[in-house]
Amino acid sequence: MYTVAQLIGGVWGAGGEGGELVVHDPADGTPVTTVPLATADEVGKAVEAARGVATEWATSDPAERAAALHRAADAVAAVADQLAEATTAEMGKPLADARGGVEAGIGTLRQYAELAPVRGGRTLHGGHHALDFMVPQPRGVVAAITPWNDPVAVSCGLLGAALVTGNVVLYKPSERTPATGWLLAKALDSALPAGVLSLLTGGPEVGAALAAQEVDVVAHVGSTATGRAIAAAAAGTGAKVLLENGGSDPLVVDADVDPVWAAGQAATGAFANAGQICVAVERVYVHRDVAEDFVEALVDRARALRTGPGRDPATELGPLVDRRHRDHVHGQVTAAVAEGARIRTGGTLPEGPGAFYPATVLADCRHDMAVVRDETFGPVVPVVVVDSFSEALRCAADSPYGLAATVLTGSMSHAQRAWRELPVGTVKVNAVFGGAPGGAAHPRRGSGHGFGYGPELLDEFTATKAVHIEAPGGGHW
Ligand code: NAD
Repeated sequence: MYTVAQLIGGVWGAGGEGGELVVHDPADGTPVTTVPLATADEVGKAVEAARGVATEWATSDPAERAAALHRAADAVAAVADQLAEATTAEMGKPLADARGGVEAGIGTLRQYAELAPVRGGRTLHGGHHALDFMVPQPRGVVAAITPWNDPVAVSCGLLGAALVTGNVVLYKPSERTPATGWLLAKALDSALPAGVLSLLTGGPEVGAALAAQEVDVVAHVGSTATGRAIAAAAAGTGAKVLLENGGSDPLVVDADVDPVWAAGQAATGAFANAGQICVAVERVYVHRDVAEDFVEALVDRARALRTGPGRDPATELGPLVDRRHRDHVHGQVTAAVAEGARIRTGGTLPEGPGAFYPATVLADCRHDMAVVRDETFGPVVPVVVVDSFSEALRCAADSPYGLAATVLTGSMSHAQRAWRELPVGTVKVNAVFGGAPGGAAHPRRGSGHGFGYGPELLDEFTATKAVHIEAPGGGHW
């Protein structure tokens, strides 16, 4: 059982007057974590304390901050197994996936430690006797509010980039993975000057109290509804908002591809992490010519998945994060069936403990169904049959979200049309996951705004200043 403590003003164990929350293992319902809830007053005090050390951290040498981040990455690597175990215990994903998320987080910390000090501004070509340049400076106080679905990788990105560029950070991990956030914060804090990192714990109220503070940046990775609430709060304080939010990523299956291979891609994209990935395949538009074989093969893939607790190495499909989320997923499936969708496999609530939900394939779906348009965030694939590639692209583009999309096609001209026409941040052709290191994109519409990843995230946490210097009286120095 993990007993989480907050970190406020450099003091572990501070605050928590708002009560306590217990997190249960989604595989069997046993309690795993107790976590204190911060009060609004504690949140205010934490921000005040953080601001008190902001100038000192902002004016430290960039190389010194980079060295601290390298030490922080070492400290995270030293507790990598514990972090993975805590992730699996709190949100259920298979242990190997959790471990992969920790490794990704460590890699990101190291990348930012290398990139930040070599990143510079620009010199400008002004008058002969003048000096003109543009220089990035830390923004100051950053609130980082994070989700549970890949807690270490996502948090390391935001925290690493914000810290190494000279900002102090108030970290509010998800109330569903607080022990994971606490273990991560302990490791990072061990390598940083006291007070540079704070940890506030609790649920939406604590996040809302933090977003309402006079901070300089609120960085949020999470749902679209929360992102919008945060943007509204920040409009009142003038804080910059960085939002990486929900998605409903389409998978387009063209007429000329092998339907069995395409089904494998769809299964990987829709069932990994039980569909709880921001860029999971959420809806499929398959050409009529290959639709029947594609759905058959997808059903086979879904049925073949080994379901079980994440700590069992044989498990391929773990439970959903909790029963509240399972109710949301099952509610969408039930509504789709009421609207005419046909369950080809899955779609029923299993007996027994935990928050398990079967891999589910829904045939006979229409583009206007809620299960197709909204984010499900579960192991559910609604399949819509289309008559042309143009129709598929049109449907794929017609969404309140704009995170990512995948197109499976043997046609280079279709691939070219897809990346040019789809209004999303990331377009993948013939691979649901993958992409070169350092890739970063602007999500669109309900999926957020700003670079949440890659070297460009360093720019999001700095403000660029333009400087013009002349000698007095137009003369010489
Ligand atoms: P969520 O928005 O409910 O919670 C995320 C964080 O926001 C938590 O720490 C939560 O306590 C806090 N929060 C909740 N309400 C708040 C409020 N009113 N004000 C301030 N903070 C508040 O999201 P979640 O359920 O934890 O995560 C799942 C969502 O995250 C999905 O929609 C998924 O697509 C998205 N996600 C997006 C990305 C991306 O890079 N685009 C990555 C991972 C997850």
